[in-house]
Amino acid sequence: MQQLIRQFIDNRWVESAGQRRLPIIDPYHQRQIAEVTAGDAADVDAAVAAARRAQPGWQALGGARRGNYLTALAESLTARRSELMELSSRNNGKALAEAGIDLDDAIACYRYYAGQAQALEARQGRVVDHDMEGIQAQVYEDPAGVVGLITPWNFPLVTSAWKIAPALAAGCTIVFKPSEVTPLPEQALAEIAEAIALPAGVLNLLHGDGEGIGAPLTAHPGVDKLSFTGSNAVGEKVMHAAAEGVRNVSLELGGKSPILVLADAEVAQAADWVMAGIFFNSGQICSATSRLIVHETLAEPLYAALSERIDAIRLGDPLDDATDMGPMTSARQREAVERYLTTAREEGLVAVRDGRHRQLPAQGEFVAPTLYRDVPLASRLWQEEIFGPVLCARSVASDEEAIDLANASLFGLAATVIAGDVARARRVGRALRAGSIWVNSEQLVLPQAGWGGFGISGIGRELGPWGLASYLEVKHVIGPSLD
Ligand code: NAD
Repeated sequence: MQQLIRQFIDNRWVESAGQRRLPIIDPYHQRQIAEVTAGDAADVDAAVAAARRAQPGWQALGGARRGNYLTALAESLTARRSELMELSSRNNGKALAEAGIDLDDAIACYRYYAGQAQALEARQGRVVDHDMEGIQAQVYEDPAGVVGLITPWNFPLVTSAWKIAPALAAGCTIVFKPSEVTPLPEQALAEIAEAIALPAGVLNLLHGDGEGIGAPLTAHPGVDKLSFTGSNAVGEKVMHAAAEGVRNVSLELGGKSPILVLADAEVAQAADWVMAGIFFNSGQICSATSRLIVHETLAEPLYAALSERIDAIRLGDPLDDATDMGPMTSARQREAVERYLTTAREEGLVAVRDGRHRQLPAQGEFVAPTLYRDVPLASRLWQEEIFGPVLCARSVASDEEAIDLANASLFGLAATVIAGDVARARRVGRALRAGSIWVNSEQLVLPQAGWGGFGISGIGRELGPWGLASYLEVKHVIGPSLD
């Protein structure tokens, strides 16, 4: 059994100061496969001190050299791709093919920010055009400093890539805390940092839970910026912690994203996208399109097409190529989803498909793919993030009603619009209040574009130039011209 009881600090594997140990569970076999330290505040102190020592040198190295390290990181992930896919699949329960998509996404992100690091250097000291005689103004973008990065368990290696890559490109040094639920794939990042000889202290990885590592990291005065991906409940705590000492904070939180099927949509095609938007990663996606808003003329045929597809989903061993959907990542998450299913029964929701329609595998933390129709607006299932394979549907009479219903949410992470006429779908998409709008497509993410939400889905944007900007401080130097 693997033991992750050492922390990666200053390019050394050091015994954690934490005495508590947490079990790492394979959610399909429901057995312990590793043990991880819960870490503690002394680990955080040591890692922050190492990151502070390393930061000036890492900044001074320049963008091209930092970019070379990011390219090396991408190459090392590529070389370990199949091993990491398997590890991610076993630790998280996601189907192997999905773990491959994750890996490719992470690798593309490191490659993109390798280029961005170089471009950043090239624009340092850019002269600003203005109309004041004899005055020269220049703009620099300096790294934010030492950053504390905290990620969840649903997309290991991806949510971390979206933070680590731009932070390194910017010239920041890092204290990274992956989720204690899925530390096995993330551990590879420290191994790779060591293998590519990333300068000591640039990337420190601390294993542990929220209490042992998360809270002390967010409260540490030596951390200049915090970037957090996870639940709204913890996101609020992180923001409170960042208020002490007025430290910069970025938050990527939950979602309750709509998928709109307009009246001219082709039903079979729409059904495929609806499926992809909710059942990928067993529904454990922040951007899952979990509220289906369908034109009333298409509701019956669409529910019928979805039922057929739901019945065809093969649940099973995530490492088996024949499996479409694996278990929930943890017993805790399965129980959380099941509480919503109990609420649905209490509220009298109409299930088109649920656990009564299929036999679950004999082992594993499975939840049956579920579809409720005509869900009341006041239902908790319509309003709250469930984070599981549960789709809630309602029908509407017009595009305008669909837009109003889609926007009637405190969340605003993503949305999908499906229509026969692409121009109509794009028009409706522009009216939606969300950070990513998929038009006749689902869950497409580009490292070049932004990621993040309106409303309570978060603060700031990851990916693209905005992802880099969130690790930079702008400096304006102005005074008499030299000539
Ligand atoms: P979580 O909030 O429980 O945990 C996230 C991370 O925070 C973990 O590493 C955890 O150990 C740590 N943590 C816990 N308590 C802490 C504290 N007091 N201080 C600091 N850190 C603490 O979330 P989760 O269950 O791991 O992930 C699911 C959530 O993540 C969902 O709400 C989902 O929508 C969200 N998510 C959002 C995005 C996005 O891009 N917006 C992406 C993936 C997941």
